[in-house]
Parts: sequence; structure tokens; C-alpha cells
Amino acid sequence: MRYVEWQRALRSARREGRPEPALPELVPLSINLDLTTACNYRCDHCIDWDILNAKVKFEEETLRAQMTELAARGMRSVILIGGGEPTLHPGFTAFVRHLKDLRLQVAVVSNGSRGDKLKEIAPYLEKGDWIRLSLDSGSNEVFQRMHKPSRESLTLDEICAWIPQIKRVNPRFELGFSFIITWKGGTRDDVKVVENIHEIELATQRARDAGFDYIAFKPFLERAETGSGVMDPQKMEGRLAEVVARIRASVDRARGLERPGFVVRESTNLRMLMQNSWRDFTRQPRVCHMQSLRQVLSPHGTFNCPAYRGVGYARLGGMDLYKDAASAQDGAAMTKALLDNFDASENCKNVTCLYNGTNWWLEQLIESDTPLATIEMVADRRDAFL
Ligand code: SF4
Repeated sequence: MRYVEWQRALRSARREGRPEPALPELVPLSINLDLTTACNYRCDHCIDWDILNAKVKFEEETLRAQMTELAARGMRSVILIGGGEPTLHPGFTAFVRHLKDLRLQVAVVSNGSRGDKLKEIAPYLEKGDWIRLSLDSGSNEVFQRMHKPSRESLTLDEICAWIPQIKRVNPRFELGFSFIITWKGGTRDDVKVVENIHEIELATQRARDAGFDYIAFKPFLERAETGSGVMDPQKMEGRLAEVVARIRASVDRARGLERPGFVVRESTNLRMLMQNSWRDFTRQPRVCHMQSLRQVLSPHGTFNCPAYRGVGYARLGGMDLYKDAASAQDGAAMTKALLDNFDASENCKNVTCLYNGTNWWLEQLIESDTPLATIEMVADRRDAFL
């Protein structure tokens, strides 16, 4: 609510030509942290392809100081995720311990190739933390064609065999199997992606039998000219309605495999694709408020949104932003500048934005005269991932 109060005061000062209110402590509640740009796969559908395996890397001590500074100023959670494979960072386990020592919620999105590293961090994770493996296939053959692991002998069988071992160490956090649905006609640059719709059920069965808590289905995203990740179902080979119907039927059959302790999840943008409502979520307000709540920290710099990793005009600062009090102030000033200058209604007009509803809700709240004291606060559900 402090953010809404500040935005209201800022807008009314600007309308009335008064001095602007003081800049509040704008630090994100949650960050996506790309620990490394190194990756040991060459996935045909990878949206971060252009920024992988770069020479840039974090300075470890500075990165720890950044986490400490952000946690002290209100950050609640960190997702170790894309732009590289987090388990390949040499200090991965020690870094996860550092985050947990700071009482942060922690999540890891991994390609699954280093089950030994995931098992190593398992003792430090708690209820509310999670690990999700990006596997996207049900058979070893499609797994290898889609992901092209650098160790060619790596199979889905081998990856899934780690799950019961990790669960035995610590069953309190969630372990998920992520499946990006790809279709014929989808491309990354000039590379045609391998279709996997026919493996939706097989993957679900595999995830359930391996001991995952859930399988999550999402649609394939491509890089748009603006640099953002966008869903482009128009490029499906075959009639859109027929391909969507195949996906719908497969996901419905996958649902039949649910049982206590194992569920099938559909991402918001997959639901939008299947309801043919995805265009509704491409109409954004001019100001993206999510930029102040969730940011991306990577060896390429700090960015306003996971859809804009590595994109120059979405950059908030260097890889060492927030390393101390002065730098945290720079971060707040840059966040304010992007709130003013990053026009989401234009830049994100092709993005099926998952935060579309949140952004419009905040925008309407800021523009309304509803007293903030009358807004009912929900209890803290200890879920600070955004
Ligand atoms: S409007 Fe959505 S896609 Fe665009 S920057 Fe904001 S959160 Fe990211």
C-alpha cells in the first residue's frame, strides 16, 4: 500500500505543479536471479538463447552483499532461474544457504542435469520453497531432441531417478515438472522447434510415477522484435483451433492421471490460449507497476521484467545494483525513471502478460479515491514469489 500512496501523491503533485514527494525505498519484493549464464543444454525453444554462455559473471562477495542489502530493505523471495543453469554455478549450494540464512523464500528452476546439486540444497529448503525442473517431454528421445544436453548420454530416466532421492532428504518443499508445450511452426530465430503435444500424457505419467508433486503446462514463447517474450499462436502449422483442440484434449487426459499428492497445473497464458482470450492480456496500462515489485538480476545487469532479460531499454542498472545503501538509492531512482519512461502499453502490446490483471488493479487503485484504509488486507500466506 505504501507504493500506491506514493504513486497517488506523485501524480497529484505533478497535476498541481507542486514539488514531487520524496522517493520511497523502492526495492523489489521478489527477484529472478540468473546466477550464471552458463548452460549445458542447447534447447531449440530457449528464449534466452542470445544471452547464454557469455563471459560476464557475478563477483560472489558483491552478490551476497546485494542479497543482504535487499533482504534488509524488504525483499522477501528469490527465484534462481533462467539465462543459464543455476546448478552450474560453482558456489550454488553455499549461495542457497546464504539466502536461507537471510530468511528469504527460495525457488530454483533447473534443467535437471545436476540432480546431485539439487539433492545437496534439499536440507536447507522449507515449506513454501520449491524446485521446478524444465523437462518438456515424456520420452528420452524427445527430451534429447528438444534439449540437446552437452553430455549426450543424459536421459529423462536419469533425471527423474533423482526425485525420490531428493524427497527422501526433505519432503517439505514442492518439486515440479515443467512442460512448455511446443507446436509445429514455432521458431527460435530460424530454428524450428520440436513439437511435443503428443507427449503431454506420457510426461504426466512419468512425473507422477517419479514422485513429482505436480506437472505444469505452459505455451511456448518467442522473442519479439521489442526483445520481449511473446506467445505467437498465429504461427502454428495447421488450423489454430485444431492445434488448440489437440492441446486441450491431451491436457484433459493428463488431468485424469491426478491423484492425491500429484496435480496437473495449467499456466495462466495456456488457459488464455485455450479460451482464445490471450489478446485481452496484451492491452497493458502505460505504467507497469510490476517493475517495482519484481525485477531480474543477471550478470548482464538488472532488468525490469523476466520478459526483458538483456534488453537495453529495460535495464535498471549493472549486475551490482543494490550492493549497498547508495546503490539501493540508485536502484530506487532508476525504478522511478522506468515507471515514468517504460511505456508498457506500447512495449508490451504483443506480450500476453501474466501480470496484466495486477497492473490494471494497481492502476485503477492509484487513480481512484478509494481510501486505502478501507481495503481489506488478506492474511500473509507466506508466498512471496511474484
Ligand atoms: S507489462 Fe507485463 S510484460 Fe510488460 S514489463 Fe510489465 S510485467 Fe513485464
